[in-house]
Formats: sequence, structure tokens, C-alpha cells
Amino acid sequence: MPTTPASTRLQEVRTRIDAAVAQAGREASSVRLLAVSKTFPATAVAELAACGQREFGENYVQEGIAKIDALSSVQPPPRWHFIGPLQSNKTREVAARFDWVHAVDRLQIAQRLSAQRPPTRNGLPLAALQVCLQVNISAEASKSGVAEADLLPLAEAVASLPNLCLRGLMCIPAPSQGLVAQRLPFARLRELLEDLRRRGLGLDTLSMGMSDDLEAAVLEGATIVRVGTALFGARPQRSEAG
Ligand SMILES: *Cc1c(COP(=O)(O)O)cnc(C)c1O
Repeated sequence: MPTTPASTRLQEVRTRIDAAVAQAGREASSVRLLAVSKTFPATAVAELAACGQREFGENYVQEGIAKIDALSSVQPPPRWHFIGPLQSNKTREVAARFDWVHAVDRLQIAQRLSAQRPPTRNGLPLAALQVCLQVNISAEASKSGVAEADLLPLAEAVASLPNLCLRGLMCIPAPSQGLVAQRLPFARLRELLEDLRRRGLGLDTLSMGMSDDLEAAVLEGATIVRVGTALFGARPQRSEAG
């Protein structure tokens, strides 16, 4: 854990986002900060929530649910995003406990999430699960994400599922140095989103940018940046896949 207080780290990240938003000539409210809390304890999440951070991203199902339970009395309630790769045997828990899923890249996973999304939670009507499709934007570097050529049919199929709301696209580009190189894959994801919108899909979300490249992502239109290290400190190495 860094010794810098959570409030300072949060302010530093917000300042970076604000500067990029201003440089891009965008509205400050057009970019949401998703705090990626994977591997960090619920106490660290609660600390950031107490500073006003509302949205949290988790990569591992059981770890994420443990934190959702631990923070269940926090007001206003945090919004939980599942951002990791999702296996079909974990869809039921994700559909029940999370509000967003960012890394959908197969129709079968989307169908299961839709079928398993409960109509209520704690006795209250539950909104559709908000979903982004992960695009394999650096084709050589990554095994996850839908190929660009398969994106349109997948998006159309997912958009038609009853208990999902398809919001947009997400990517994790191969790491690169410097603003110019970092912007290229984000620009490509923006073009892909614009193309889907021209085809009539009502999408509004680009989930892109992390601690090292959030400025490049905001300059290319990110609406959600997913930030872990800059908020919580360096993560221990971890190998769990679920
Ligand atoms: C871990 C993770 C992040 C956060 O990365 P940092 O470099 O620590 O900011 C963002 N998105 C996804 C999908 C992740 O797995």
C-alpha cells in the first residue's frame, strides 16, 4: 500500500482526468472514473468510497462478491463493474451481483448473463445488466476480445437480448510508450463505436484507459477510465483465473 492517503491519490487521478478532458475540449462529466480494486482489501475500497468514489471494478468473481458483501451498508451504494474475463460457470453470480460487465466477447456468455439476470434484488426491481463488448484491438498481443471482423454481428445479437443493455466497447491495448502511440488503439476503438452507432445501435460508452494511458484514452473519447495502480498502489503478482 502506498503511504499517500486515499484522498490524495484520488485527487491526483481526478486532476489527470480533468487536464485531459480540458485538453480534449470535453465536458468534465463525460468521463467516469472506475476504481479497479482487484487484489486490494475491502478496507481499501471502503476508504476510497468514503472519499466519494462510487464505481469499483473487480476482475475475480469470488473476490469481488466478498467486497460487494463487505460494503453492502455503504451509502450511497457503490456501483460494481465486473471487468475480468468471464467463464460460463461464473455468469450466474456475476449477473446477480454486479451492475456492469465490461469484457463480454462471446454471444454464449451474453446469453447466459441475460437469462440469469434476476428481475429483483433485495426486493427491488433490478435494471438490465449494463454490458460492453471487449474488442481485440491489438490482435497479436491478446487472446481475449472479439475480432473486429466479428464485432457487428456480435453487437447486434447482444443488443437484442432482453435483460442486457449493450452500452459500448472496451479494450486493453498492448502497452506502448508515449501519447502518440498510445492514442492509436483508442482512436480505433472510437471509430468502431462510431461505426456501430451509424448502423443504428444506441451506444454511449468507451471503456478504455488505465493508470499508464488514461490521458491518451480521454483524448480519444473514453467515457469510463479503469484505474487501479494509480489509486491503490502496485499490485502483488497474482495467478488466479476465476
Ligand atoms: C487491472 C486492470 C485495470 C487497471 O490497471 P492499472 O494499470 O492498475 O490502472 C484496468 N482494466 C482491467 C481490465 C484490468 O484488469
